[in-house]
Amino acid sequence: MNKSHKYDLETDIAIIGAGPAGSTTSIALSKAGVRHVIFDKATFPRDKVCGDAFSGKVVQIFKKLDPSILEGIYREESKFLGSWGITFVAPNGKSLHIPFKLDGGLNTGNKGKEPPPGFISRRYDFDNYLVGRLDPDSADMRFGANVVGFEHLDHGILINYRQNGGHGTCLARLVIGAGGDRSIVAKKLAGHKMEPEHYCAGVRAYYENVDGLHEQNFIELHFLRELLPGYFWIFPLPNNLVNVGVGMRSAKARKKEVNIKKAMLHTIHEHPDIKDRFKNAIPQGEIKGWGLPLGSKRRNLSGNRFMLVGDAASLIDPFTGEGIGNAMASGIIAADIAKEAWQQRDFSSEFLRKYDEVVYKELWGELKLSRTLQKLAELPWLFNFLVNKARKNQSIRDIISCMFEDLDLRTKLRSPGFYLRLLVN
Ligand SMILES: Cc1cc2nc3c(=O)[nH]c(=O)nc-3n(C[C@H](O)[C@H](O)[C@H](O)COP(=O)(O)OP(=O)(O)OC[C@H]3O[C@@H](n4cnc5c(N)ncnc54)[C@H](O)[C@@H]3O)c2cc1C
Repeated sequence: MNKSHKYDLETDIAIIGAGPAGSTTSIALSKAGVRHVIFDKATFPRDKVCGDAFSGKVVQIFKKLDPSILEGIYREESKFLGSWGITFVAPNGKSLHIPFKLDGGLNTGNKGKEPPPGFISRRYDFDNYLVGRLDPDSADMRFGANVVGFEHLDHGILINYRQNGGHGTCLARLVIGAGGDRSIVAKKLAGHKMEPEHYCAGVRAYYENVDGLHEQNFIELHFLRELLPGYFWIFPLPNNLVNVGVGMRSAKARKKEVNIKKAMLHTIHEHPDIKDRFKNAIPQGEIKGWGLPLGSKRRNLSGNRFMLVGDAASLIDPFTGEGIGNAMASGIIAADIAKEAWQQRDFSSEFLRKYDEVVYKELWGELKLSRTLQKLAELPWLFNFLVNKARKNQSIRDIISCMFEDLDLRTKLRSPGFYLRLLVN
């Protein structure tokens, strides 16, 4: 990272964005002994529109990457709330409560004795915590630096950024795009465009004092008929807060002419199963919206001197809207390949293509299944049928629980035989 005469900064690797994808990439690079620069246009803490739910996948990734990060999370009870399961509410109003683990701490009373399988935390707190775990010895952090353009040079990519009212340049041999939805790297270097069929619009708000939350902080997904294939959610947070929101695929929202912000408020104030739970609730802050680039389509994730991670790579689960786990998973893969490229001094598109292969080898099966589930969710009768069956049958509930722990089991849901066996029980 020597300051050269021509550029304000020079580095082999530059990460653009310090959300979960960029920060995880940075932590993994530091652990591999690779120095780098990481930019973010924000200074932390900063808000990020999200449901704030962190699944078992995130927990598993932290366990492998650095368990001390997870221990820090569990220690800060005012910022992180452990969650032990998920409640699905079918279009017919029937609920299905699924613990994230088979014993789930429910029957054994394990709550409090073993770490929670998932957690919920405002991204304001979580992202700030994660950025605080970056290693200043190997990561040159440039926050408040907005990357505005690139120029391909023979020996690298020239990054232009704005900071403190001024202008800066950085020459990087490799750029890792971690700027989330609307990432400048995805747009300018990879040529990605927003595709309404593979994109979801989401809004969220915070409320205090919502009634009827599950005693083990289950997150709630309400598949209301009028919002299908999207859903309304209620996720509990520390300090008696909840994160409430609605997400719906953009193509559907356009076709059905749904204004999702109005749909969320209508659900809170008018829905017969929901409104009573909000009768003492106090809104906190504004309702905010943001986009979710879904992983329901394969894209090019790398090219000459660049790779995309997280939302910049469109890796959000198309059924659940969960993106943090895949953002982190892709960050770890990107760090691995970046290290190899750095060792071999080869940042060509041919070399980096390996990144796309590994990412899709790891994630495509799951993303494809979620795409199927997303389509099934458009059929309220099938959704009702599955929830009714599962409510009556402990082994079906156990299979679903296992799916949160063992991702291979999710492939069962893709097989027609699974539904046939359900039909005949
Ligand atoms: C309404 C909604 C609800 C969601 N709910 C959940 C949920 O409950 N659970 C879940 O797992 N996922 C959820 N997601 C998805 C999740 O928010 C994303 O998948 C996740 O934030 C992706 O992380 P990321 O690091 O790729 O991008 P981001 O978190 O968006 O981080 C990108 C970073 O890049 C920076 N940046 C952007 N452009 C530039 C630039 N030009 N120069 C410098 N810095 C830049 C930004 O400031 C930001 O800090 C939700 C998304 C939405 C919109």
